[in-house]
This record gives sequence, structure tokens and C-alpha cells, in this order.
Amino acid sequence: MSGESSRSRRSSGRSATAPSDFITGVELRRLRMPLVMPWRWPGGTLTEREVIVLRVVGDGCEGWGECSALPAPTYSPEWVDGAWYILRHYLVPMVLDRPLDATTVARSLAAIQGHQMAKCAIELAVLDAELRAAGVSLAWRLGATERRITAGVAIGLTDTIADLLDQLGYLVGLGYRRAKLKIHPGWDVEPVLAARAHFPRLLLQVDANGSYRLADADRLCALDEANLLCLEQPLAADDLLGHAAWAGKMRTPICLDESIISGASAASAIALGACGVVNIKPSRVGGYLEAVRIHDLCASRGVPVWCGGMLETGIGRHANVALAALPNFSLPGDVAASSRLYREDITEPVVVDPEGTIAVPDGPGIGARLRMDVLHDATVERLWLGA
Ligand code: MG
Repeated sequence: MSGESSRSRRSSGRSATAPSDFITGVELRRLRMPLVMPWRWPGGTLTEREVIVLRVVGDGCEGWGECSALPAPTYSPEWVDGAWYILRHYLVPMVLDRPLDATTVARSLAAIQGHQMAKCAIELAVLDAELRAAGVSLAWRLGATERRITAGVAIGLTDTIADLLDQLGYLVGLGYRRAKLKIHPGWDVEPVLAARAHFPRLLLQVDANGSYRLADADRLCALDEANLLCLEQPLAADDLLGHAAWAGKMRTPICLDESIISGASAASAIALGACGVVNIKPSRVGGYLEAVRIHDLCASRGVPVWCGGMLETGIGRHANVALAALPNFSLPGDVAASSRLYREDITEPVVVDPEGTIAVPDGPGIGARLRMDVLHDATVERLWLGA
């Protein structure tokens, strides 16, 4: 798709494709993919990405989705083993022989509490299948308005400030114009101010993954000097009032990540003054369609959003690029090149150009071809459910 036809199709997005098929089977795959470098964050260290991907099959069509739960429940209550169980025994049986229509997936799964990441995987696969069959892109379906997005990179914890500055210098050299640093107690004001001093024009923000207490807010006001885009999730996920109190102390906008699990939680957080920015992760909110609803809600409240990341493979990564092309994604997100994490991805890779931008996929569905050889090599468990 290119030129005028692409623009005109995108301008008419959001309309659902007509359901014309039923889900006849679902294949679950558990993958193990080595990371190009260890990922250290306040929740632990990963040297490989264990992740579930799934394939939804209809009569003559198929689509892929990704469950972004981590191997341990350190980011949210979901984790790989739990997601495998809930998909196998609960969620997949609830959609088998149901219409292949993404708009009905969330309702079909509503009896199961939580497990948003597992639900998101099914919805994305159904979206991908129906859009591939219809020949239209996920970006168009979601209402994307941009043809390229600005990439952003998240940097895990490092041993020393020198290591941090080395990594930042390398990534800036690759074209990245925005970076997010992980912080936690004992690793915050000094490394962040050092990063700002060395990279005065870099768009910079920090993420605490809920590792602070409200009593730390006065000390962390020193981060205001770093001119950050936002401070992400300083307090626990359920502490909206604490975040509102923190926001009143600091010039840097507060962004919420773990706290936002639905449109309702986003509305509550904004109404309470708990955040001025929202990180939208489709997997954390149960799917891309709910993510779009949160995007629209935030736009109506004047709250900018950006797209978060969960060390996605190419399936979730291409879908995130499509989502991040919606108009209120006015801040660059954690959407980086596939090569930032994986030497070989299971799809055609997401690529960042020297200007630090990524092309929004405009092929059918997620807009990327699966690399079956890489997928085969990464698969450690495989299960077919259905006819
Ligand atoms: Mg975060």
C-alpha cells in the first residue's frame, strides 16, 4: 500500500472488518530467545526472553499474537507458566468455534478475571487473521495517522555511570533521539543528572517500576533539573493517591504504567491528578482495541500518551509500531529496533533509520512476515488446541 491509497484508507480507519469465519484452532508456542545483552531492571535480570506466541486459525486464514508476560510475575501478576495454563485450559477453549471477529474477543473472555496479557495475545491474533484476510493493515484498523514514528529506547540498569554513558552514546550514534533510564533507590539522581550533562539535547525520561515510597519524593525533586519528559511509576501500582501527592511536589510530569490496566483505571488516575502522561501497553490493558479506547480517553482529557514495551518479539513489536502511529501518541515510546534485543527475530525485523524513526507497517495485519525457520529454532514447547 502506498501513496494516496494509503492515506485515504488510513483516514477512514477504526471500522471493523466483517466477521466471515470461525476460529477452528489455536496453536500455542513457548519460545526461548537469547537477548543480545542481559536486561537488568528493578524486577530482576533476564538473559533470554521466554515468551508465548500463538496462532489463530480459521477456515483459510490465520493470524499471530504474542503474550508479553515475563518468565516470573515481577512486572505484573502474569507470568509465562501461568499464561500457558490459563490460555490452554480457559481462554482458548472460550474462543474456539466462535466468530473470528476481534471486536467480540474481549466479551467472550470477560468471565475470566485479569490475565490481560494472555487475552491480548488472542485478540491480536484474531485481529491479524481478519485483517490479513481483508488485505488491510493493523495501523489502518486502529486509526493510525502517521507513516513513521520516532523510535525510543529503554536502557536497563548498569553497573557504573560510565557504562550507562557508553550505552547512551552508542544508541545516540545509531540515531535514537529519545531514551528511558531505569532507576531505583540507590541508582537515581546521580546517574540521571550525569546522562543529562553528557547528552543535553537527548529526549530523556526515567522509569522506577514502583520502587519508591512517597517519602522519597522530596529527594527525587532533584530530577527536575534533568528536564525529563516524565518520571514513570515511582510508587506501587495501586497507589493513585500517592502518585497524585507526588505529582504536586514535582515539576516533572508523572507517567503511569503498572497502574493503568484498563480504560477505567486510566480515567480514575487522570481524574485524581495521579498522572500527566500515560504509558499505554496493549498487553497490560487486555488488547489493542482497549489500548485505542484509552488513547481516545487520554486525548479527550489533554493527556499525552506513549507506547510501552515488554521486550516483544517482532509480532508484538510491529503491532506496537502500528499503535504508536495514532495521533495522541505524541511522545516517543519504548519502541526500538528488533536488533536492540534479538540477533534474529521471528519476523522481519523492526528497523530504526539513521534519523531515529521507524516506518509504520502498511501490509495486511501486523504487516510483517513470520520467519518460520527462526520460529522453529526458538520453539521449546508447542500445543495445538482445536479440531
Ligand atoms: Mg514502566
